[in-house]
Amino acid sequence: MSESTSIGFAELGLDPRLVDALSTLGYEEPTPIQRETIPPLLDARDLVGQAATGTGKTAAFALPLLQRLAERKGERPTPSALVLVPTRELAMQVAEAVHRYGRALGAKVLPIYGGQSFGQQLRVLKRGVDVVVATPGRALDHINRGTLSFDGLEVVVLDEADEMLDMGFADDLEAILGATPEERQTVLFSATMPGRIATIAKRHLKDPVQVRISREPLPEGASPQVRQTAYVVPRAQKLTALGRVLDMESPEAAIVFCRTRNQVDELTEKLNAHGYRAEALHGGMTQDQRDRVMSKLRSGSADLLAATDVAARGLDVSRLTHVINYDVPSAPESYVHRIGRVGRAGREGVAITLAEPREHRQLRSIEQLTKRKIQVDRVPTVADLRARRLELVRASLRETLLGDDAEGYRVVVESLADEFDPIQVAMAAVKLAQEATGGEVEEVEISDVAPEREQPGGRKRAARKGARGDAARIYIGAGRKAGIGPGDLVGAIAGEAGISGRSIGAIDITDRFCIVEVPEEVADQVIDALRASTIKGKKVTVRRDRGGGS
Ligand code: AMP
Repeated sequence: MSESTSIGFAELGLDPRLVDALSTLGYEEPTPIQRETIPPLLDARDLVGQAATGTGKTAAFALPLLQRLAERKGERPTPSALVLVPTRELAMQVAEAVHRYGRALGAKVLPIYGGQSFGQQLRVLKRGVDVVVATPGRALDHINRGTLSFDGLEVVVLDEADEMLDMGFADDLEAILGATPEERQTVLFSATMPGRIATIAKRHLKDPVQVRISREPLPEGASPQVRQTAYVVPRAQKLTALGRVLDMESPEAAIVFCRTRNQVDELTEKLNAHGYRAEALHGGMTQDQRDRVMSKLRSGSADLLAATDVAARGLDVSRLTHVINYDVPSAPESYVHRIGRVGRAGREGVAITLAEPREHRQLRSIEQLTKRKIQVDRVPTVADLRARRLELVRASLRETLLGDDAEGYRVVVESLADEFDPIQVAMAAVKLAQEATGGEVEEVEISDVAPEREQPGGRKRAARKGARGDAARIYIGAGRKAGIGPGDLVGAIAGEAGISGRSIGAIDITDRFCIVEVPEEVADQVIDALRASTIKGKKVTVRRDRGGGS
């Protein structure tokens, strides 16, 4: 692997049992926030970290506090760590993560949030808990009732501190911190750093290390050629959304980035079960296995690669047209590295990100780093997909009609024509052809969730694509003889002009030219962009079609 200067978890000073746990989870290397926060936290320093969801911050604070448990001998009668989080969902999520990381150490973790019965929480607390993950309100209730003892508390973590303040927990936080031992270690994470956070940090943290993920300069030329879109999808519907996007975009070859090896393996299996030809690429594979996958991708016997960041570093395959982020990457810099796999050497490329509603902040920091907008769009609907498939079938049929290789089928049509109207025969053939392009579209609709963009001055969601307005016909002076297929046209138009593949209308390909319909309002933009670029490596004539026919 190139540029493999990566530091592993063991080098950060973590206990081998924790390192093993991470490897079992398929984490290949620390994320930037983990690399910067784990060593000072292991040194018992206080810390203020600016990081949003999705950066790996949970492991960044959880691993060091688990390490303290590993080092602690004897009985652990009262909690040694308290993690405060703004919501019940986050309490469950963080508790679950701490539990996974600390299983080998026998760490006992309890989430505490409102709405749960006190009785049950008490029973678990009595049995002995190492880490409490709580919402401020419920934590304070326990303190006031005397049911939560902080005598043995060594670490307090304020996670998503800005959200906790926004939710009005400022006084609760003060009260809770006041009830904890003076000599504790205090860690504060926040996605934003408004003045109120600085005030809390000043009052309650001792000489804290400040961590902000450093911004690498944008690798030159990494993104201008790349069309960037994000879809906001609930986690449960990601796989469906991925299938939809793949079908809609019909990439020549695509790489789907996942966070962990396990996700890569899981996704590869699921994609293959759904009829895609996917291969896995991650750091857990031998060099031999990886070489084999790469040559499959290069030769075209595989067109879909599920990969981790580490394994795909530096990867350069000219067939790649699409990068898909199955999750928003943990650092904006990884996003830049990922999308750098396409759009190389002046080719166009597409980067699509599936973001969960909570991950909008990540998208924003990526936009800040790349200085380019990521279009947030609606996931293609079942109807979009049907229309797209029919359009592709129509274009291929037209090509076949213009070619002369269908002659052998005349006898089939003629024999059926004795019995049926030829139009009916043709319709049945189209139906079969359509089904052969990937079967029926699953009827699942994907919920149209709005990203959680909070500030009033913030960017609005992209408007829904409405009904198509006037269409303009564009003449492109190269056709089938130049090896052009519908995918090249969609790729060139979408990639160069930055318009969505699904706003492209009818495509007619003849031997020597093509006619493509695009919405009138983007026609000039498409023409300019195509003129400035190449299709299949060649400059071609591009103009409005005046002939009115082909
Ligand atoms: P968080 O920012 O803590 O919400 O983490 C976001 C996601 O990244 C979670 O699904 C973690 O399991 C995952 N994650 C955290 N650290 C790593 C890592 N070093 N490598 C891969 N995935 C990670």
